[in-house]
Amino acid sequence: MNHVLSDRINNLAVSQTLAMAALARELKAQGKDIISLSLGEPDFNTPDFIKEAAKKAIDDNWSAYPPVDGYVDLKEAICHKFKRDNNLTYAPSQIVVSTGAKQSLYNVAQVMLNDGDEVILPAPYWVSYFEIVKLSGGIPVEVPTSVESNFKMTAEQLEAAITPKTKMMWFSSPCNPSGSIYSKIELEALVEVLKKHPQIYVVSDEIYEHINYTDSYCSIGSISGMENRTITVNGVAKAFAMTGWRIGYIGAPEFIAKACTKIQGQVTSGANSIAQRATLAAVSAEPSAIQYMVDAFRNRKEIVYNLLSEIPGFKVNQPEGAFYFFPDVSEYFGKTIKGKEINNANDFAMFLLAEANVATVTGDAFGNPNCIRLSYATSEELLREAIKRIKEALA
Ligand code: PMP
Ligand code: GLU
Repeated sequence: MNHVLSDRINNLAVSQTLAMAALARELKAQGKDIISLSLGEPDFNTPDFIKEAAKKAIDDNWSAYPPVDGYVDLKEAICHKFKRDNNLTYAPSQIVVSTGAKQSLYNVAQVMLNDGDEVILPAPYWVSYFEIVKLSGGIPVEVPTSVESNFKMTAEQLEAAITPKTKMMWFSSPCNPSGSIYSKIELEALVEVLKKHPQIYVVSDEIYEHINYTDSYCSIGSISGMENRTITVNGVAKAFAMTGWRIGYIGAPEFIAKACTKIQGQVTSGANSIAQRATLAAVSAEPSAIQYMVDAFRNRKEIVYNLLSEIPGFKVNQPEGAFYFFPDVSEYFGKTIKGKEINNANDFAMFLLAEANVATVTGDAFGNPNCIRLSYATSEELLREAIKRIKEALA
């Protein structure tokens, strides 16, 4: 029936992260002992103070349509958060609250891109950037990086990727999937290049901002000259263990925020009212309220780093944030193990699923065909068991 569907949907790839998570769930339901390291989703519960705010919102009857761009007090709290954590100065008229950071990104693509506009994506990039850009008529331009450069794009690489058609650059820091964080100095080098090309806007996806194992963080929008050409994307899913609540937000030049509100007004009428009230409690809290989760992620990161480094043929970088490892496993390509030929990262991920009962995601989905992604947002016990199984299957 594909001929009945639009070219737009026929040309869209399925989200590989969600697809692998669904496959793992299906195999589990069939009774297989699968450990899923596929989905980037904290294994913590939403903190009680946020749940209380949501319960109170229900009792207080926050049940009518919210303003399309978000409640005013929530937008004010987000402005305060941007100032407190990121040294970014936004007015409430520059904030738009949406149904997850995913929708925030989709809105931005829809309102910024015309057919043929190029969008630079340092690779590896988060899986949905590529398809959201494509779906909006844009052309993703991948800039490859490798484990050797800690998966970071240099100023020279950025310069070389720019053409007269370049409209935007999208990146995440901390990066999903590599865990790399661009330092202030590294961002300033990129900004020097961007200054020569004032037509380029930047999407800075900072959803993992708080899951940071370094002692500093820099938002590109806080660097002089970038305030009027950066769209800062953030959300509560990762830091506050609120993936299911579906709230993300942007801070952007006012004309872009207005355009995002316009599209949202035709598509969703705004984000869920109760989840917005819960988000108000989350963003108003000091980051120390979630330090226990960050500490747990850091502890697991150390354990997983040491265990993965012991597996022959795994090249691993030291992540600085988020909760992913993105090992280069290309040494296995061209080999046959347990009768299964492994020629690429897809084969490798499927081998691990079949032979180790461990679900991961192929690096292809993130623009790097040499790697696979593992999420360590799961218990230490399961992580140890999963990596033991991987090691044994490959031995
Ligand atoms: N950006 C990145 C880098 C992500 O990993 C995710 C994953 N959820 C999102 C955006 C989307 O977040 P949300 O769940 O708020 O839609
Ligand atoms: N962002 C998470 C991930 O990368 C959740 C899945 C998704 O939204 O695609 O695994």
